[in-house]
Amino acid sequence: MSPPRSVSRLRVDLSALAANYRTVQGLTGPADVAPVVKADGYGLGAAAVARRLWDEGARSFFTARLAGGEALRRTLGPEREAAIYVLDGCSDPSDGERLAHSDLTPVLSSTAQIDVFTGFSNATGYKPAALHVDTGMNRLGVRPEEALALVETGALAALDLKLVMSHLACAITPEHPMNARQAARFRELTKSFPGVRASLANSGGCFLGPDYAFDLVRPGIALYGGGPTEAPDPRIAAVGSFEARILQVRDVPAGESVGYGATWTAERATRVAVIGAGYADGLPRSAFPGGGAWFEGAVRPFLGRVSMDLAALDVTGCETAEPGQWVELFGEHLKLDDAARADGSVAYELLTRIAPRVERIHED
Ligand SMILES: *Cc1c(COP(=O)(O)O)cnc(C)c1O
Repeated sequence: MSPPRSVSRLRVDLSALAANYRTVQGLTGPADVAPVVKADGYGLGAAAVARRLWDEGARSFFTARLAGGEALRRTLGPEREAAIYVLDGCSDPSDGERLAHSDLTPVLSSTAQIDVFTGFSNATGYKPAALHVDTGMNRLGVRPEEALALVETGALAALDLKLVMSHLACAITPEHPMNARQAARFRELTKSFPGVRASLANSGGCFLGPDYAFDLVRPGIALYGGGPTEAPDPRIAAVGSFEARILQVRDVPAGESVGYGATWTAERATRVAVIGAGYADGLPRSAFPGGGAWFEGAVRPFLGRVSMDLAALDVTGCETAEPGQWVELFGEHLKLDDAARADGSVAYELLTRIAPRVERIHED
């Protein structure tokens, strides 16, 4: 029996991923580019993404969860050496054991985490760590004055501190005064950590200029095809293409409605393509009104509510539309950032919500 024909798929262009890596490197060199592959590589498949980026020269990676770090270590295997940083850090001794077992580096974000990991290090001798210092976002990280106190009291002396890092709150808005303020605070702070590598920039930060690059940059979305300001950027290539098949084409007479709640009514005779993707595939339910899909040279708007497994598109005037053809929900033609905006979302969310049942196809 042949496998069932898929009705939705996510094609991942690994050459475009590599090109984006090189673009970021060109902007931030000589800093190391350390890809962030959290949330399964922003939904694109962390294993394939990380292997391709390793081939491209990446030797440091970031995951959010410990399990993501463990999976990445298995994926890279003993033959591909790399530092893997876990942003969640180390919250109890069992985390320490798992970190040590997979040779992962926790990003310690509070004095409580530092205490836990120091206790584990003293007991086992496993001590690579990164320190996250908050410079204004107030999400994760010790405060700058706490970081200085840790240095003065020698509280970090038991650890092998590989990296001191902070995170930008407003990098998608280059002119936001918060960027320069955070960079200045961070630069001041690094003086207290001589010989320790420093990292501040996410994707947006990589595009803010050399003052933001420090020793290592942590891009995510820009590698995966999202622009640094949440709008398409000509320097960034499309990586993911989310596609669905046309399942039915129907002619809806004027005056009839389409979909649940009858929220859209045809003002004139309308050709409707019903496609095999819905909110259970990751298409935002808010895609109507406003969003659409690329088909035969144009964006075709959604008609009526997105259902669980299906959505409807206006393909009026498109005589060639027929079942089996693919439409592009985002990709090379309908850019990720544009599709996200039209759907009332952002590139990050659109990518990471694509459901497991959508077939992933990695192309090189
Ligand atoms: C997610 C994340 C990044 C990557 O952010 P992008 O905007 O996707 O480049 C970098 N650093 C930290 C701490 C993060 O949480």
